[in-house]
Amino acid sequence: MIFPDAMLGMLGGGQLGRMFTLAAHAMGYRVAVLDPDPFSPAGAIADVHLRSAYQDREALQQLADSCAAVTTEFENVPAESLRWLAAHCAVRPTAESVAVAQDRLREKRFLLQNGFEVAPFKPIERAEDCAEIDPGLFPGILKRARFGYDGKGQARVDTFGEVASAFARLGSEPCVLEKRLALDCEVSVVAARGPDGTTRSFPVAENRHRHGILDVSIVPARVAAALAERAAACAQAIAVKLGYCGVLAVEFFVTDGGLVVNEIAPRPHNSGHYSIDACVVSQFEQQVRTLCGLPLGDTRLLSPAVMVNLLGEVWHGGEPRWDTVFGCPEAKLHLYGKHEARAGRKMGHYTVLGESADAALAKALTVRSKLCPDFGLHAA
Ligand code: ADP
Ligand code: MG
Repeated sequence: MIFPDAMLGMLGGGQLGRMFTLAAHAMGYRVAVLDPDPFSPAGAIADVHLRSAYQDREALQQLADSCAAVTTEFENVPAESLRWLAAHCAVRPTAESVAVAQDRLREKRFLLQNGFEVAPFKPIERAEDCAEIDPGLFPGILKRARFGYDGKGQARVDTFGEVASAFARLGSEPCVLEKRLALDCEVSVVAARGPDGTTRSFPVAENRHRHGILDVSIVPARVAAALAERAAACAQAIAVKLGYCGVLAVEFFVTDGGLVVNEIAPRPHNSGHYSIDACVVSQFEQQVRTLCGLPLGDTRLLSPAVMVNLLGEVWHGGEPRWDTVFGCPEAKLHLYGKHEARAGRKMGHYTVLGESADAALAKALTVRSKLCPDFGLHAA
């Protein structure tokens, strides 16, 4: 086990790295962040901020020399850097399991091979593939295999011609064409697997998206208990099949009462932020625990909770009226310290606790109606 005040390394310095750093600091660890962005949200509070590229050998060497263990907060970190670091210090999760989640095609093939249900799909790796599409895949969504997030790198397609033009628009890079499913709702599970193979998952979140970006997470998810149990078991089974060590998130579609795996994130997840305020340990403390080889913490939900994302749009008319959030005694505000409030950029979130999921949701939406009276107008 790695104990405080060891230095822990984090590749990537966004909000997930920042919340990891906050959890690690509370537990007495020090953190070194590698992120080229001088205004990195995690870098701003870390003990050490290496402002270098992710492949920079000198910076990686510095991490290897100073850290007891290294992890990552975003899936697009070069797997090669994780591989190099692994020869010098503990790296969790491994480059190999991150590489599977980095690529939608590898991810879908892995899931299919291991008996997990995914939406019907076809790889579109070159223009010629557009000619051989099963019409049953329409209406569809064409997604870039790599570097997509928050609905970016995707296009809705209804015809062969639309697939061809969307493929060109997405840069003629490998893509996957997925059948667009009629969704009852979307849920996600954050799970953790320790170096000793123990797995545990956080309560299932029900997620509402707006324009492809997570908007609200409701916990516990308002789905049948049996479905929630299956989602939790499935997320843990994925972690086992991947030989995963660390925290991972699985997004699911609920369709016709059944569960379909949408995607895997090899890190804590936006839909798990509620755990900071509503669980015994948060997903970020769990990340510290798996990284340090400590026993997994208790993921029990202490109170129903609703998390609301704050995107750059909220700053549209200047600094938001934070008194509207602080005026709700059950609301907890989290801001990520980002300087530029661009539309669609995740700037922060708040979590509201309540007697029930519905009660927390009603309060959370009341806060939002005060914070963003014209929310519907410029959220596009
Ligand atoms: P990202 O990496 O951007 O989160 P996702 O594949 O999760 O990409 O897609 C973002 C959102 O778009 C999903 O949460 C869901 O709301 C919608 N979506 C994606 N794929 C499908 C699909 N096959 N059928 C229906 N909705 C989908
Ligand atoms: Mg997603």
